[in-house]
Amino acid sequence: MISWNPWHGCHKISAGCRHCYVYREDAAFGAALPSSEVRQTASFNLPLKRDRKKNWKYPAGTQFALCFTSDLLIEEADPWRDSIWDIIRQRQDCTFFFFTKRIDRLEKCLPEDWNDGYDHVAIGCTVENQDRADHRMPIFLSLPIKHRLVIVAPMLERIDLRSYLDPALIEEVSVGGESGKYARPLDYDWVLDMHAQCQAAAVPFTFHQTGSYLIKDGRTYHIPREHQHSQAKKAGLNDVTFPKLG
Ligand code: SF4
Repeated sequence: MISWNPWHGCHKISAGCRHCYVYREDAAFGAALPSSEVRQTASFNLPLKRDRKKNWKYPAGTQFALCFTSDLLIEEADPWRDSIWDIIRQRQDCTFFFFTKRIDRLEKCLPEDWNDGYDHVAIGCTVENQDRADHRMPIFLSLPIKHRLVIVAPMLERIDLRSYLDPALIEEVSVGGESGKYARPLDYDWVLDMHAQCQAAAVPFTFHQTGSYLIKDGRTYHIPREHQHSQAKKAGLNDVTFPKLG
């Protein structure tokens, strides 16, 4: 999995953004520019890089995780996004996925030849609470997308997705908690409940990380960063290895 961040920086738009890791990591590294300033990076053309023999630096089959230090659909990047679609179009031998809290902007951000979606692009709609699920999921399901993932992270409360879980439309629901010193806790009962909803709907489920604080059987556990993925995996709830594409 290769991270491809053609731009960096974002601004907060909903409850899940409160302790955004982009801001946190920028602060930790003493970033010269504010995290809310969206700017292009030196990795803008990353998938098109060649080695000394003029072969692709990233070979066929590479999976690119796109825009994890921003949002692909953020307004400030509107003038740059067509170049990204062009790069993605040139690398149909690779796969790309991105998550967004701005699914309501997708339609106006798509390239002209998108039609019913690119086969090698997966889009994850992030829903952190019931309010955002009820706003974003109907939009997400109505759009032409070949591979849909639902990212329930950071999960902030029990969420009912039952009316949206159509296995013909959603390839995976992935749940995670919040990380960092000020993280809001994840209640394991919410995770089990989401798992049950997915099982009932025959939609694959993944618990991808616990976050920093996990409530289980009435106790709150602090999970160090390095164990958050492995502890989630140990729960034994995963149907697929996140992310699955194609
Ligand atoms: S949309 Fe994502 S990257 Fe942007 S502020 Fe919110 S959590 Fe951070």
